[in-house]
Amino acid sequence: MSKGPVYAMAISPHPADNDFGFGGTAAKWIKEGKKVVYVIATNGDKASSNPDIPADELARIRANEQREAAKILGVTELVFMGHPDLGLENVPGLQKEILRLFLTFRPEIVITCDPNNPPYFSNPDHRAIGRAVLDAVWPMALAVNYYRDLMAEGLEIHHAKEMYLWMSSQPNYYSDISDVFDLKMKAVEVHQSQIGPNGSAPDFLNFLKEGNKNAGKQAGCEWAESFHRLEVLQRL
Ligand SMILES: [Zn+2]
Repeated sequence: MSKGPVYAMAISPHPADNDFGFGGTAAKWIKEGKKVVYVIATNGDKASSNPDIPADELARIRANEQREAAKILGVTELVFMGHPDLGLENVPGLQKEILRLFLTFRPEIVITCDPNNPPYFSNPDHRAIGRAVLDAVWPMALAVNYYRDLMAEGLEIHHAKEMYLWMSSQPNYYSDISDVFDLKMKAVEVHQSQIGPNGSAPDFLNFLKEGNKNAGKQAGCEWAESFHRLEVLQRL
């Protein structure tokens, strides 16, 4: 694992999520010469209703899909945390793991999912990781007594500037991805285990395009990704 600082660290619950929610913005920033790190919290081994696909095979397929998609977008640093799919809980162990990655890569911007959306049928990994990342970036990252063990390893306090939450019901920021939309779609379409004809959500591609088109209308451009953008508090 290389050390930071990097421009952005995108932490997703499952393989594919970063590409779906943030892939266009990632590609745009990378084209501008900024470094983007991808962190994938779970191995995605439960994302199928087909009893003929064993969990370990699905995990292997999804890791390969994620590597391929990252390569298309130009993401050179990919971290697989390796948790089992549908196994995340916002507990001190997970927060500390995220904090270790945050203090190692030292990103200006942290990207993850909005833990509060959708309100009823929502994936528990999305709720857990979204909340754990928010908690790790603030207040934990600023509370040095929370991670004396990490400081003893040589890691130091770090303040992020902003957080971008994708899949938010309260978007307040639209990122114009018109110039890289084709590249995003190329990366998205790699995830055939999910959006392919035999995938768990074959209709998702149209849903995604519709979302990027509607966000584009809000932004006054052809295609955009929407986020809830937050300025990170710089003190406890
Ligand atoms: Zn997901």
